[in-house]
Amino acid sequence: MEGTIIGAQASRTQRVFALLVCCLMLGGAGVVYSRSDVSLPVLTAFLPIFSTTIVLTEGITSLLLAAYFRVSGLPSVAALSGAYAFTALTAALQLAVFPGVFTATGLLGAGMQTAVWIWVIWHAGFPLLILLAAAQRRFEPGAAAARRSGAVTACAAVLLGFGFSLLAIFRSSWMPLLVAHGSYARLSHGWIGIAVEAIAVLGLCAHAYSTRLRSPLDLWVGVALVAMLADVTLTLAGSSRFSLGWYAARCASLTSSIVVLAALIFETSGLYIRLARANRALAVEAALDALTGLFDRGWFDRHFEAEALAARRADSCLSVLMIDVDHFKDYNDTYGHVRGDECLRRVARALQSALRRQDDYVCRYGGEEFVVPLPNCSHTVALRIGESLRHAVRALAMPTASNPAGFVTVSVGVATTSDVINTAELIKAADVSLYRAKLAGRNRVVGKPEPVDFPVPAFAQRT
Ligand code: GH3
Ligand code: MG
Ligand code: MG
Repeated sequence: MEGTIIGAQASRTQRVFALLVCCLMLGGAGVVYSRSDVSLPVLTAFLPIFSTTIVLTEGITSLLLAAYFRVSGLPSVAALSGAYAFTALTAALQLAVFPGVFTATGLLGAGMQTAVWIWVIWHAGFPLLILLAAAQRRFEPGAAAARRSGAVTACAAVLLGFGFSLLAIFRSSWMPLLVAHGSYARLSHGWIGIAVEAIAVLGLCAHAYSTRLRSPLDLWVGVALVAMLADVTLTLAGSSRFSLGWYAARCASLTSSIVVLAALIFETSGLYIRLARANRALAVEAALDALTGLFDRGWFDRHFEAEALAARRADSCLSVLMIDVDHFKDYNDTYGHVRGDECLRRVARALQSALRRQDDYVCRYGGEEFVVPLPNCSHTVALRIGESLRHAVRALAMPTASNPAGFVTVSVGVATTSDVINTAELIKAADVSLYRAKLAGRNRVVGKPEPVDFPVPAFAQRT
């Protein structure tokens, strides 16, 4: 997972941005803190909207992290995914049992203590699971034991969340009283509140220490933990539902939930872009001929059709050059295949660098044959380009006894059409021209068939 939200080092910009988010959040919390217990109007829609958002954002975060775990095999990522699933679950259950949302006392026969106890489970459980995620870092990533441990931790997190929440729903009478007349001052001023606050601090410190906030994911989970600390502090300072502290705490909670999801979504869209680029680069690489580094026959076949289509649409002409190294079999027979290969490489380079238009390219058609598609190019210009390619090869001045010219040369066949119906016909016409160039003595460029000096080869004869 090199270079991803997990494997990469968080950039300076990300760190500055994260710091800014923390400062804004802590500054806001500081402003609200001293007036946390001021009662505000009861907005009945607030809690359902808040809880639904939390369930969705934490649930999606958990799924995205699970996908990252499947790819990376990092158990700490699985544990994080479990921690987010835990939060989504406890937030959903809290919504179900919250007094006044679905029924006056909440669904599932919950008591008045249930919602606040689920809040305790949620806010103490999440940092504890973060501690567990930190402990998972000792495993070698990707090893079977690491994968197993990660998966077990994630499942255990969900089961624990479910188990404790069920206990709070069906056995709240067993638990210490935390709410009376809408006020949870007993929680705020008792040891349970202190314990939740301490666990939040511990979770943040352990996370920062074990990860050094190195990767972007570590950094944003750190921000989420700072937001959670603000959430816990303000909730406890608010002492009652619908107080300023209570509302502000939920806003901090939303920030905590959204930052990691936003970072993951940002990363995932970046991944798609990188994947598309890598795919394009791979497609080009796969289309390169191993010997010459030119585009291969498959690339030519695919692109020539597209160029023909474009020429038809634009009502422009399309030319093609067919190039063949002269007496190359004799060259191989004289100097061996290794030097033959080297000769082909040099010819390919010379041909490619002789092309002047930026988008023009040479393809290896097969063996010692090359082809150059020339879109929007008249026959006269194509003949001129063919001539410059022939010169470029001759200018290499590669001496050979196998060619009567004394040097390696090429013959070029040119064909042009202004009405591309069938690309195979155009190739065949270029082939006929090449055949004529060979018959005329090689080392030349031949275009449109002149009125019959040469026999039409069998492959080009129409029946
Ligand atoms: P002409 O002037 O009529 O084109 O004669 P030629 O000898 O070039 O034609 P022919 O088609 O008979 O021979 C082509 C030779 O190209 C045969 C084969 O050994 C050689 N050849 C094809 N591919 C490669 C290759 O990848 N490396 C090498 N070294 N030789 C190749
Ligand atoms: Mg040949
Ligand atoms: Mg040849």
